[in-house]
Amino acid sequence: MPLVTGGAILSAARAGKYGVGAFNTNNLEFTQAILETAEKLRSPVILQISEGARKYAGTENLAHLIADMASRVTVPVAIHQDHGSSLEICKSAIAAGFTSVMIDASHDPFEENVRITKEVVEYAHAHGVTVEAELGRLGGIEEHVNVSAEDAFLTDPEEAARFIELTGVDYLAIAIGTSHGAYKGKGRPFIDHARIEKIAALTPIPLVMHGASGVPQWLTDRFKASGGEIGEAAGIHDDDLKRSTQYGIAKVNIDTDLRLAFTTAVREVLLKNPAEFDPRKILTPAKEMMKEISAHRMQVLGSAGQA
Ligand SMILES: [Zn+2]
Repeated sequence: MPLVTGGAILSAARAGKYGVGAFNTNNLEFTQAILETAEKLRSPVILQISEGARKYAGTENLAHLIADMASRVTVPVAIHQDHGSSLEICKSAIAAGFTSVMIDASHDPFEENVRITKEVVEYAHAHGVTVEAELGRLGGIEEHVNVSAEDAFLTDPEEAARFIELTGVDYLAIAIGTSHGAYKGKGRPFIDHARIEKIAALTPIPLVMHGASGVPQWLTDRFKASGGEIGEAAGIHDDDLKRSTQYGIAKVNIDTDLRLAFTTAVREVLLKNPAEFDPRKILTPAKEMMKEISAHRMQVLGSAGQA
């Protein structure tokens, strides 16, 4: 089917109390793995593209590939600009056919964040595209965004309600304890469930959780067993994810999990078959492992069977 907006997918998710995975993609194999899994599990899905992914693959190359593949699946698909840093980035994403954009001015003061977000909302809505913004600050590293733990702060519920009213934004990323990347602290990462509940009680719009990879133990074990190097990594527990969708988290960003799955499978193939140099045979197991990871996430989030 044709692409739909992020707003269409996420409003249904918030109303139905389930979450939809927003998986980062960079290339053909990631896109195939995500879309084939969504189709098989009857799950709506969001494919998101960072500014780095646009540079890597070419904005039109990637957007047109996804739109074409999405036209041949029968579940709702949206293409989302992940962490857009300016109005210009969002405009060029919309010109390339994205149906959802994020403007991330969360590092600016509140009034400036409101001003920039409002500008993007006005432009995007005039073009039939829905918008995500962020309030509060997550820790961790994501391309141009690098926030130390001391600089991270959690979203204030009253401020969130005011921000939504002032900007007309369609969905809001909130800081509730998650961070970007594979390192989310020792043990089970803390999620401020009470804060999610308070924010959700003040607004009907879908809420967004960034840094929501699961980083399963079996995956980091296999990554290490195949020669990969990774420190003490921990992801968001399945129960925490499920619980958050009951209050209002509707969009759940997942990047690290698929990167780790891809790299682990490639490492294993190359280690086991030193004579192999057919890229198709090297990348097929990577695709399969990404499918396994994304299927599990769709089941945990409850989006499986919703389309
Ligand atoms: Zn993010």
